[in-house]
Amino acid sequence: MADLAQLYQSVILDHNRNPRNFHPMTDADRSAEGYNPLCGDRLKVWLRLRNDVIEDVSFEGSGCAISKASASLMTTAVKGKTLVQVQEMFGLFHRMVTGMLEQDAEAKALGKLAVFSGVSQFPTRVKCASLSWHALRNALATPGAKPPVSEEG
Ligand code: ZN
Repeated sequence: MADLAQLYQSVILDHNRNPRNFHPMTDADRSAEGYNPLCGDRLKVWLRLRNDVIEDVSFEGSGCAISKASASLMTTAVKGKTLVQVQEMFGLFHRMVTGMLEQDAEAKALGKLAVFSGVSQFPTRVKCASLSWHALRNALATPGAKPPVSEEG
């Protein structure tokens, strides 16, 4: 596992140390939790939608550097994107970390998320990198997750 050091590039270290959008969201429309028993990573993703656009997104949790940095980068990547764009991004990201990307152009389309391309060589790390994405997708798949307001007082 000598190459593992290469996995921890400066971007990953930066996002692990200073995760972006790292806070609960009190006015979120939806949320979902993710747990990766292989590594012990736990996180929760919140998001707020306006029509088909992710207006805001945040996360909180604890885990390894890969899982935390990936969640942080994910929030910066999907904020302001449409649901269709996010689905495309999820598909590309998943194919990248599982080593299924066919062209460099696809990696380029992922922008900064491409720092996780090395993960494909470490199968046990794939779940770490994709945990936040699965949580995001679960949150999106949960309709009307806002708790109903009691009108009876
Ligand atoms: Zn992990």
